[in-house]
Amino acid sequence: MKDPQYTSTSVVMLKELLAVLILIIIHTPTCYIHPALYILILLYAVNYFRVHKKAHIFPEWATLQCRWHIEHHLGNQDKNFNIVFPLFDYIFRTREKMSDAQLKIALRTRKWF
Ligand SMILES: [Zn+2]
Repeated sequence: MKDPQYTSTSVVMLKELLAVLILIIIHTPTCYIHPALYILILLYAVNYFRVHKKAHIFPEWATLQCRWHIEHHLGNQDKNFNIVFPLFDYIFRTREKMSDAQLKIALRTRKWF
């Protein structure tokens, strides 16, 4: 069930790391306008990377800690976009929950990556 594409040396992992680094660099001007906001963006980016990687390596952990992300991969991939916390999925009405039974069936029958 683990996602083999999320090892520390995989191309997928390196691409995601590069994307996060680019986003951090793009947001650098924020540091001059509002340093605390930039620090918050940095912390969120690091947490995003950490949570997403861990979710793909330890799906059992993800089932408990970021169920919405598993629901994104196993269910409707046009919903549940958030990784760390589904705040914006609720705001933009893209949060789509699966029942416990649906999730159990999906976890047994589908690869989640
Ligand atoms: Zn994912």
